[in-house]
Amino acid sequence: MVVHEIFRSIQGESTFAGRPCTFIRLSGCNLRCVWCDTPYAWHQGSEYTLPDIMKLVRIYPADLMEITGGEPLLQADTPRLCALLLESGATVLLETNGSQNIDLAPMGVHRIMDIKTPSSQEQHSFDEKNIARLRRGDEIKFVIGDRTDMDYALSVTETYALSDHFPVLFSPMLEKLAPHQLAKWILDSGKPVRLQMQLHKIIWDPEKRGV
Ligand code: SF4
Repeated sequence: MVVHEIFRSIQGESTFAGRPCTFIRLSGCNLRCVWCDTPYAWHQGSEYTLPDIMKLVRIYPADLMEITGGEPLLQADTPRLCALLLESGATVLLETNGSQNIDLAPMGVHRIMDIKTPSSQEQHSFDEKNIARLRRGDEIKFVIGDRTDMDYALSVTETYALSDHFPVLFSPMLEKLAPHQLAKWILDSGKPVRLQMQLHKIIWDPEKRGV
């Protein structure tokens, strides 16, 4: 597999936010979101075998592990990596951009599916068939940069009744939208969606890698 970095930090997003977590960031992405905060993961990385990766993550507690990217479902061995991490006893999260078949991740993995909003300029990358593939334990995320994004996220949430079945997380794009503005829009909407702050960007230097 091509791995960009493996590190231990605080989970910054999802309903698992705040928990210590081991991150495996895989290289490569099929999208080019204009506000991507990990463009270095598009190309950079080193080849690791699955046993190499398991050896590296074993130095950390097998509690919570996240496979992220880039887009982790692009790599053929990602399902096997998920299975090995599950076998190690960890709770496994997989962050995906929604453009790939999320059923590639085996049962037991919590898929955190980021549905791209218009300001990412990758809105049309979303594979709507993934909605029917969602299962208990999955979560939906929207990154909101402006009112157009908010209206889009509300519309998708309502069309598919997402918040009836899954946690739906609205994150402000901190460079473009004040959290209090998004909080007000959420309250005004009356929808049971969750304001999510990207904790890692608040705790650590946003420019720093491996946090
Ligand atoms: S899907 Fe994620 S990694 Fe890929 S360009 Fe968008 S934000 Fe960056």
